Amino acid sequence: MLAIGLTGGIGSGKSTVSALLAERGAVIIDADRIARQVVEPGGPAYGPLVERFGAGILAADGTVDRAALAAVAFPDPAALADLNAITHPAVGLVMDERRRAELGTDHVVVLDIPLLRPEHRQLLELDAVVVVDCPPEVALARLVELRHMPLADAEARMAAQPSRQQRLAGADLVVDNSGDLDQLRGEVDRLWEQIRQLATARADA
Ligand code: ATP
Repeated sequence: MLAIGLTGGIGSGKSTVSALLAERGAVIIDADRIARQVVEPGGPAYGPLVERFGAGILAADGTVDRAALAAVAFPDPAALADLNAITHPAVGLVMDERRRAELGTDHVVVLDIPLLRPEHRQLLELDAVVVVDCPPEVALARLVELRHMPLADAEARMAAQPSRQQRLAGADLVVDNSGDLDQLRGEVDRLWEQIRQLATARADA
């Protein structure tokens, strides 16, 4: 197994690159998807969240109302820190469990982690970190035009994340997504070749 961390700014194209890598045979472990699963009733973060934030964060059917949770947690730094302290380790554990299930296979496992931090390399035993990169104004335009995100929301989210330079400084491999989808497919072909070479080098070592 080769474990690849995939990251990039909001709207950079991580999900699109993940889907293209899955077409080429990669196994995808998606942090955003797991973040939704761990807060489902019965999930490891559900009870601790209700205990910390109260039943006011629940919808009538007992599931976590993400908008209600965001409304209490996002404006208050202490509450946001608690929310992250409950959910992030739960997400990390599930990701690691899924990664470990692939040990001993010849799969390329891609861990899609929007906020990948340097310590994830060791924690998740990543063989390489791939950054999906595009100019911030291109990401902003995609979020507003294709995902219909209000401009102020998109700008606020972009301002809250690490800078393009910080992300690129942590990259082993970069996928340029400043062009159209055809160009991106070419970039992912090139990336897949680099990943195959890493896998071969590893097998020969
Ligand atoms: P988020 O950080 O919100 O999870 P993301 O990094 O996963 O976003 P995507 O959802 O893959 O980004 O891409 C954002 C939007 O831009 C989507 O609507 C996607 O279809 C579109 N998109 C991505 N790459 C391109 C491209 N090269 N050309 C045109 N549209 C693109």
